[in-house]
Amino acid sequence: MNILVTAAECTPFAKIGGLADVVAALAKHWHALGHNVRIILPKYATIDTDRWEIKPTHIVVSVPMGWWQEYTRVWRGVLPGTDVPVYFLESHDYYDRPGIYGDPEGYADNDRRFLFLSRATFEVASSMDFVPDIIHAHDWHTAFALAFLKSHYRYHPRFARTAGVFTIHNIAYQGQSDPYRVLPLAGFRVEEFHGSWFDHDGVVNMMKTGIMFADKITTVSPTYAREIRWTSAGMGMQPYLNLRGADFLGVLNGADYTEWDPTSDPHIVATYSAESLASKEANKAALLAETVPPHDRIVEVPVIGMVSRLTQQKGIDLLLGCMEQFARSGRARFVILGSGERRYEHALHLLAHRHPTRIILYTGYNSALSHHVIASADYLVMPSLFEPCGLTQIYALRYGTVPIVRATGGLADTVQEYNPVTTEGTGFTFREYSVSAFAHAIERALSYYRHPFHWDRIRRNGMQQDFSAAKSAQQYIDVFRWALEKIGRVV
Ligand code: ADP
Repeated sequence: MNILVTAAECTPFAKIGGLADVVAALAKHWHALGHNVRIILPKYATIDTDRWEIKPTHIVVSVPMGWWQEYTRVWRGVLPGTDVPVYFLESHDYYDRPGIYGDPEGYADNDRRFLFLSRATFEVASSMDFVPDIIHAHDWHTAFALAFLKSHYRYHPRFARTAGVFTIHNIAYQGQSDPYRVLPLAGFRVEEFHGSWFDHDGVVNMMKTGIMFADKITTVSPTYAREIRWTSAGMGMQPYLNLRGADFLGVLNGADYTEWDPTSDPHIVATYSAESLASKEANKAALLAETVPPHDRIVEVPVIGMVSRLTQQKGIDLLLGCMEQFARSGRARFVILGSGERRYEHALHLLAHRHPTRIILYTGYNSALSHHVIASADYLVMPSLFEPCGLTQIYALRYGTVPIVRATGGLADTVQEYNPVTTEGTGFTFREYSVSAFAHAIERALSYYRHPFHWDRIRRNGMQQDFSAAKSAQQYIDVFRWALEKIGRVV
């Protein structure tokens, strides 16, 4: 199958969150299954072209924007460890800026920057003579590609037999924009806007656009698929998801276990497996040696880790509400790696300042350190308000780091409460979004720390879980076949 992927993020080139990991992991596995995959990404100024050997090509494509043409030079690289081609769109105007989306509010012209990416996807495919069976678009950024597929390119010889699949990684970000600005740029008549598939509450909503124009829609876990259809977690998109209900399903994200493998991870101090869990301690000892003065390096104090964007979604308020009580009593130490909203960074800095040896905070984005923290910690917390899938808890399971999570979205699909009677289960969960429910889950989790039998069992249960991206890659291929069937093709 020829699969054309268009996305705003892809690991390792440009990553803010799970979207990037999933785009890369799926492509890798489709390639391994024998499919022909190509990825289109913006060439952000922050991408290290030397490190990833990304080179300019001679291809310059013209991209229709409104009644004029804009131009982009195409750069080419490959997904590391594979020969999956990745095409990067050069645009001084759109992409030569700090970061990906612009912190913290997002660039005012993000609609236009990503409209350009969505439209250029077709022109780049044409320039390489690629005939895609599937266009796979991710989140609001590239949702317009699905509208283009069903309109401007509907009878184009190259795309007339292409099906469009839209994957929702986070419905909270919908990409809203002024119809008078965006529709003319996208080549649609603004007169036809009201009541159209672009219109949600009187503005263009890119998330809705993707949902309405795609042949099939997926989201990143079965529980999140239910939540966004039936509850306010759908953030206004519920009616559209129900309208498209027969074409919508949840496919659980998977981890790239070649990147996240404690037996061979180059970013950690000591590698280990379920059979050599004692070596995991060396990671913790190293982390303590880096951060805590000698007199307080007590290895017996459990370490609770977190690696996260610092936003309301991630339940930082719950963490702030109960961290101090555990730190002060000395029953746990916290190691947090995160970046995001200033108010959370400040509040965490304040607590870390008050308990410098019990609350260790790294702000910023650091991929290698995220491996180190996950390997070193005894527990990993994710008290998310909502969580489409979540990858960090999946990584933690593989690293024998016990997850403590709120049972929402993909967290509910990947972490089972430990049952000391049956000795089944992989972590600790709570439902109510409250500090007390979270603190209670931490208490429960800590109570097993000094029970070698249960402690060993919980960690081994987690390490045996298989949430490999290979599985989800195969499920996506089934979805693609189903999408092609919908447009009258059998592949
Ligand atoms: P989301 O996509 O909502 O951010 P996920 O759990 O799906 O949440 O994916 C988050 C990804 O980003 C994981 O790979 C996690 O390790 C990584 N990550 C988050 N914050 C940081 C950070 N500050 N430094 C390094 N990696 C981070």
